[in-house]
Amino acid sequence: MPNSQFTPGIASGRLSDTELKENFADLHAPLEAHEALVAADRCYFCHDAPCMTACPTSIDIPLFIRQIATGTPEAAAQTIFDQNILGGMCARVCPTETLCEEVCVRETAEGKPVEIGRLQRYATDTVMESGKHPYTRADATGKKVAVVGAGPAGLSAAHRLAMKGHDVTVYDARKKAGGLNEFGIAAYKSVDSFAEREVEWLLKIGGIILETGKALGEDFTLASLQDEFDAVFLGMGLGGVNALRAEGEDKSGVADAVDFISELRQSNDLSSLAVGRNVVVIGGGMTAVDAAVQSKLLGAQNVTIAYRRDKGAMGASQYEQELATAKGVRILYNAAPKKVIGNGAVEGVEFEYTTTEGGKLKGTGETVTLEADQVFKAIGQTLSGAPEELAMDGGKIAVSEVGATSVTGIWAGGDCASGGDDLTVTAVAEGRDAAEDIHSYLMGGA
Ligand SMILES: Cc1cc2nc3c(=O)[nH]c(=O)nc-3n(C[C@H](O)[C@H](O)[C@H](O)COP(=O)(O)OP(=O)(O)OC[C@H]3O[C@@H](n4cnc5c(N)ncnc54)[C@H](O)[C@@H]3O)c2cc1C
Ligand code: SF4
Repeated sequence: MPNSQFTPGIASGRLSDTELKENFADLHAPLEAHEALVAADRCYFCHDAPCMTACPTSIDIPLFIRQIATGTPEAAAQTIFDQNILGGMCARVCPTETLCEEVCVRETAEGKPVEIGRLQRYATDTVMESGKHPYTRADATGKKVAVVGAGPAGLSAAHRLAMKGHDVTVYDARKKAGGLNEFGIAAYKSVDSFAEREVEWLLKIGGIILETGKALGEDFTLASLQDEFDAVFLGMGLGGVNALRAEGEDKSGVADAVDFISELRQSNDLSSLAVGRNVVVIGGGMTAVDAAVQSKLLGAQNVTIAYRRDKGAMGASQYEQELATAKGVRILYNAAPKKVIGNGAVEGVEFEYTTTEGGKLKGTGETVTLEADQVFKAIGQTLSGAPEELAMDGGKIAVSEVGATSVTGIWAGGDCASGGDDLTVTAVAEGRDAAEDIHSYLMGGA
């Protein structure tokens, strides 16, 4: 092995193939059948279950857990898919510690929730691995709907619309469908090409034409879609990246965290992926944690996440922060980037310590410089290329509760639309709800 964790600069092959395989294995092993029964047995099947209220897709959690407990995981999967067709991915990526499991009565009483996420995975995997698709289409309505973006929002909308009997065409600018499920989610949360397999399984409903490599604003316009289709759903996510606003951010070795993660997700050979010896990740959300943890797992010696506010304000949950530190990542709170140092290539980043006074973040004047040969920016994404015809709200497409935009016949959902958290499960819920509204509009009920 030519390189190691100590090789200076940005280098590939810092770890052996065996170490890389171990590092990027499934974060949570799937439950065996008997483990699922034991886990399901812990549920109290609460009336007015708080876990269900906390789920953005309102899955009937006590019902599906009871179905697992009575030995019918296929029925449990149906309960899940009825509300959330990407229930398999959500079982892997949902921050359950801040959603259903946080409010589970066994968490509040005993500090150990029912393992809802893992049980959901057990049920959905049972059906998906059988290759069966449990839905059929309603009679054809003769209506055509365009969906822009094949991420969780677009796929969820497309499936629901196809199920109602409409003919759907999904356009995606990328060559591969899945959105951030395919290009963004940390590799250890979605192993064995699960995102790709899930798209294939979802498309089994029929009635959905997938057109990849076709971008709104380049290959077609909103007006051309309006001419050709009876309704349009936009689920284009957030393609733009915020600037660091620190001197020297154009130096080589400074990259966007999402691009790094996307390259990692598409790599067939992790030993060929180069990573710095000293990596600094700037940001405080899930993307920052994912970039930092994966840098460490690739063999970087020192990885630091620098976040400008305090621990409590960090977008990444307590669980995610603990995951990062358990993998050897250091988190530096209250440090705002001032200057990227280096002569052409990055050598370090100077930070100013911060404090919050009267709700406002202020620099203290004290600085610290972290050595770095690679810097990842994970400071949030922005919407780019939104059609001009649509009203905006806070930099996103303004929508009603059911995803209707300011223009009749156009809906939007997921990260590109106003309101909601930027989570996979929220995107799925918004795609589904918009599809229901589109259906009533097309059938004359709106
Ligand atoms: C690094 C990272 C890690 C994350 N980890 C998690 C996690 O662990 N758990 C979680 O719940 N959430 C996570 N999220 C958030 C989650 O991935 C998003 O909230 C979710 O993917 C949003 O879905 P979406 O369908 O709105 O958009 P996206 O998933 O972004 O999909 C949008 C699709 O639209 C396409 N598109 C864009 N512009 C055009 C155009 N002009 N024409 C045609 N197609 C276009 C894109 O190619 C893309 O396929 C993470 C996000 C990132 C960035
Ligand atoms: S809150 Fe916990 S115990 Fe109650 S139904 Fe939900 S998972 Fe079961």
